[in-house]
Amino acid sequence: MSRLLPWHASQWRELLQRKVANRLPHALLCSGPAGLGKRLFVEYFAQALLCTAPAQEGSPCGVCRNCRLFLAGNHPDYFKVEPSEEGKPIKVDQVRELVAFLGYTSQLGGYKIALLTPAERMNLNAANSLLKTLEEPPGDSLLVLLSTTPARLPATIRSRCQQLRFQLPPFETALAWLQPRVSGDPALLLGLSGGAPLQAQAYADPAWLAHRQTLFETYCAVVAGQADPVRAAEVWSKPDAAANLRCLIGWQMDMIRLKMMRDPPRLLNPDLRAALHRLAGRWPLPLLFQRLDAFIRLHALCVTQVNRPLLLEALLGDCADGQADLDPRG
Ligand SMILES: [Zn+2]
Repeated sequence: MSRLLPWHASQWRELLQRKVANRLPHALLCSGPAGLGKRLFVEYFAQALLCTAPAQEGSPCGVCRNCRLFLAGNHPDYFKVEPSEEGKPIKVDQVRELVAFLGYTSQLGGYKIALLTPAERMNLNAANSLLKTLEEPPGDSLLVLLSTTPARLPATIRSRCQQLRFQLPPFETALAWLQPRVSGDPALLLGLSGGAPLQAQAYADPAWLAHRQTLFETYCAVVAGQADPVRAAEVWSKPDAAANLRCLIGWQMDMIRLKMMRDPPRLLNPDLRAALHRLAGRWPLPLLFQRLDAFIRLHALCVTQVNRPLLLEALLGDCADGQADLDPRG
């Protein structure tokens, strides 16, 4: 059975046509929002490329020696580079290993395929050490870079890769896929994930929903002056500050919608409609936009490195009311 996700059909066709015409690029940059399954797509395509008996539509057979090795995570002609730990950069030594791998002769006589993800986590030295391979790629090799923020890659890297873009599927397509896979409200989960189906599936975890509730309660307490922002920032830094900030960005966007329209048809957080409406009533629209900008900028920073002081600064800044006549000694 095909493991191809329904919203990846056009990208699959594009790569397959190139393969059939012997025009596969040596370096491919797959970009698009998180939670779409880009990595699953790339792994499936890599398996198909190594498979010795692919089906007519290009799917891997799943039973040949190459497929079995690939599925067991042991294929000698497939190499993967990712940060050693969540939030850490991809280092130059890791990229050098990848470059060496692509330079060797293929073990099983087919393609050599390397995946590097997330590509924007490469530090400058790592990116530089990849340039020569991108300029003079070894034969029968494919290097795939995955990125949610390709603009953060050096232009020298971007310009040497063929780009393959992934987009959010139509809401109905995502809903139809998600419905049989979750026990919660699929439309709510899709809203929370910004329409990214795999992210929505992950959000169906009751532990995550409880965590989001804690974040919301902490946020409301800070707004009302009932919580210490430093303590609140501790809560907000764990376990993944960037993911937490995406919640905050979603609430902020909903507040703006609720401020601009009497009854907006679709919110990212329909379950919090009443509470967000009350919050939106506390502030003027320009301030809501200003904060949205600040949260988005902070999120961009957190994607590459979790920077607790900045997170603290943003949350504390959010509480400042501009009145200077405050004496901390009483
Ligand atoms: Zn196979």
